[in-house]
Amino acid sequence: MRTLLAAILLVAACGGGDVATETPAPEEAAESIEARALRLAKETLIIDGHVDLPYRLHHMATNGEPMPDLSVHGEKGDFDAARAKAGGLDAPFMSIYIPAKHQKEGGAKALADSLIDNVEGLIEKWPGEFAKAHSPAQVQANFEGGRISLLLGIENGAALEDDIANVKHFFDRGVRYITLTHGKDNLICDSSYADTNTWGGMSDYGRKVVAEMNRLGILVDISHVDDETFFEVMKISSKPVIASHSSLRHFTPGFERNMSDDMVRALAENGGVVMINFGSTFISRDANEWRSSKMAEQERFSAANKDAPAEAADKNIKAWYQENPLPFATTADVGNHIDRVVQLVGIEHTGLGSDFDGVGNSLPVGLKDASGYPGLIQNLLERGYSDQDIAKLCSGNLLRVWLAQNNSR
Ligand SMILES: [Zn+2]
Repeated sequence: MRTLLAAILLVAACGGGDVATETPAPEEAAESIEARALRLAKETLIIDGHVDLPYRLHHMATNGEPMPDLSVHGEKGDFDAARAKAGGLDAPFMSIYIPAKHQKEGGAKALADSLIDNVEGLIEKWPGEFAKAHSPAQVQANFEGGRISLLLGIENGAALEDDIANVKHFFDRGVRYITLTHGKDNLICDSSYADTNTWGGMSDYGRKVVAEMNRLGILVDISHVDDETFFEVMKISSKPVIASHSSLRHFTPGFERNMSDDMVRALAENGGVVMINFGSTFISRDANEWRSSKMAEQERFSAANKDAPAEAADKNIKAWYQENPLPFATTADVGNHIDRVVQLVGIEHTGLGSDFDGVGNSLPVGLKDASGYPGLIQNLLERGYSDQDIAKLCSGNLLRVWLAQNNSR
């Protein structure tokens, strides 16, 4: 971009004749804030803590749908190479998502391995767009080479099953974070989405898992855990931890999936980073209340229609959506979450964890897919954030925490 601009200026100076010398040099014109945001998005390494592409593709394959061409701007989903490049996204963590049902049915480790195989397959299929990266140095090298690093994070420690040796297995496969649980309590700890309180926080096995992750250098991800688990992790983890895709409870009172102010302060004390989830129901109070109303309607319908087939429940909730459209959040609302983390604990503890491909049709106005980062950066520039602040938010903070994992090795 800079080279192109220099070439244009040179042509204007050398070949423009008399007219060119009369015209003010373009460099004197102030760069618009929109242009500055786009330039920063392109020039700055952007890491996103959570993109659910692997499970979207897995779901499509299960339904017999063909693999989309990820090198071009797709019709479906939120992420592909074309949209990532338009938005300046350089290194998304590909979520290796294990649904909680596998904790009962089995097959969690096998599913994780097959999803990792699939991500490796994407890199083989589109080597000009995607590249493997297991370290910050590889992320940087891919960034300089213009390729998108597909990083690996397991969403739900159920993938470890009941064998601590699997932490090493997944480390060797390139997994660099593990979200301790997902929608239900598992063998490791309790979930923010469940009120079963199986362990009152963590199990003994869970404590061993955290110690082994610390030893090997896999980031502990506290998104999805309940509060007791979070505070126990703060006590026992010898390394800084991340929330790969969580927002702030301050804006969504009572929603335990998001982090309270006290949790953000404790995370910062630990040296960690909260990577903000973009989903509207995580971001705005109205959208979060809409989510509660939707769940209440689903419960009401299933209680009143015990023998109804799943299609009937589906039809009912679709009709409910018509009557009750989701009040979408906006890019500025996402900016509010980042700004509050900064007010609470400083710029060093924020990051981006979009949850693209993982939050359905609930993304905010202006942040509908992986091309949306420049708009968010613009919002922060308008609040007075510096280029250095933006660089910390986009990747610097996460890289600091990642590098800290290996300090003792
Ligand atoms: Zn999640």
